[in-house]
Amino acid sequence: MSATEQPSSELDSTKSLCPVCLSLVEAHLGVRGGRVVMEKTCPDHGTFEVLISSDADYYRWALKFNRPGTAPRALATASDAGCPYDCGLCPEHQQHTCLGIIEVTENCNMRCPTCFADSSVGRSLELGQVESMLDAFVRYEGNPEVVQFSGGEPSIHPQIIEMISAARARNIKIVMLNSNGVRMAHDERFVRALAEANVTVYLQFDGFKRSTHETLRGEDLRETKKAALESLSKYGVNTVLACTVQRGVNEDEYGAAVDYAFKQPYIKGVVFQPTFFSGRHPDSDPLDRVTLPDVIKGAASQSGYGLLQSDFFPIPCCSPNCSTATYVYLEDGRATPLTRVVDHEDYMDYFSNRALPDTEYFTKRTSLENLYSASAVPGSEKVLANYCTACDMPPNLGELADRVKMILVQPFMDAWNFDVRRVMKCCVGEITPDCRVVPFCAFNNLYRGRRA
Ligand code: SF4
Ligand code: SF4
Ligand code: SF4
Repeated sequence: MSATEQPSSELDSTKSLCPVCLSLVEAHLGVRGGRVVMEKTCPDHGTFEVLISSDADYYRWALKFNRPGTAPRALATASDAGCPYDCGLCPEHQQHTCLGIIEVTENCNMRCPTCFADSSVGRSLELGQVESMLDAFVRYEGNPEVVQFSGGEPSIHPQIIEMISAARARNIKIVMLNSNGVRMAHDERFVRALAEANVTVYLQFDGFKRSTHETLRGEDLRETKKAALESLSKYGVNTVLACTVQRGVNEDEYGAAVDYAFKQPYIKGVVFQPTFFSGRHPDSDPLDRVTLPDVIKGAASQSGYGLLQSDFFPIPCCSPNCSTATYVYLEDGRATPLTRVVDHEDYMDYFSNRALPDTEYFTKRTSLENLYSASAVPGSEKVLANYCTACDMPPNLGELADRVKMILVQPFMDAWNFDVRRVMKCCVGEITPDCRVVPFCAFNNLYRGRRA
């Protein structure tokens, strides 16, 4: 009997979306053959099943680390139609926004077969609009820490440097640029401007195989990525490799990406993002998709640095099954994961009682919370300072900058695996041109294109 034919033992219930009409439907999560499977029925379109997690034990364990949320300073909408149709943020939302995303253009200089934003040719925002959106973000958050300019391809917007300056002028400490790297490969002056603006680049980087590029991007981009990385390196731009992962395409390249990042001083981390069924995507089996534990297992087993699955820890500010991360310290070609230095469970289990916690305990817990957060940007001063506090190191940030690396796994949701409980605690927000903040997974499934 295959895993899909085995009976489920009920795990819990939630609400999800019909993948055909996007109506809200009841959904049941069950454990089947050691995996978590969601089952839901739409009265008009029938019953659907989707894999939520390939490891039910990990899924249940992660739930222990569900940190209580913090309300935003201000809301933009009222509760009316019910979640997820009131974004946002509405009074029902359970978490403030750690990371704000602004899509400055729908245009792109590529036409990838896999593109959740379905980018090609479209409209772009004016600088004044972006300034209003940044002002709104400040109003909602008080002191927002991180903004990410995205698209489309944000580097081709003629005013992108001014937009970065506008974020800086609002005291937003960390500005990220989400880019395919094409402009960086050919425009050294632009890379120098990014370095001067102290931007962190999230560089689309799916792997080293020609077939990976051709499948996910429609062309062999290896030389382009190489040229972009050389330029980013030359100007010392903080860089994070953003790897889209697709079943049967590049699951054998986790280790190569991690090991490459660990060897390059200016690459501060790797983010693995499994593909999801939004925008342009390949047809694939919802019961055979890459889930968070698959990436953990692959990265740990393939890396030459001796990582273990237990070195990855859930990010507790959002739903703990939304993302997971590990930090390592590199010395003499060896990697020491933070989990081997500090017992994370001791500090981050929000359901166990701990007798008489003291100031030192809370200081360490806070530093871990700051590290395992959607606002933790690899290589940033905040990450390095909290890393030092977490493991009682002297705060020598200059020396640590090239030694501390982060691996993040971020499986976004589509209409198939959508879980309302996760989106209600989302801390990654799309700032829309009408100055609302829409949780990223709600935006992709329900709001993108509507410009609501
Ligand atoms: S996702 Fe959050 S902001 Fe959107 S409707 Fe639900 S609770 Fe409200
Ligand atoms: S995935 Fe990125 S680079 Fe590719 S078409 Fe979409 S926006 Fe452009
Ligand atoms: S963007 Fe999606 S996966 Fe990420 S925290 Fe929000 S709801 Fe979770």
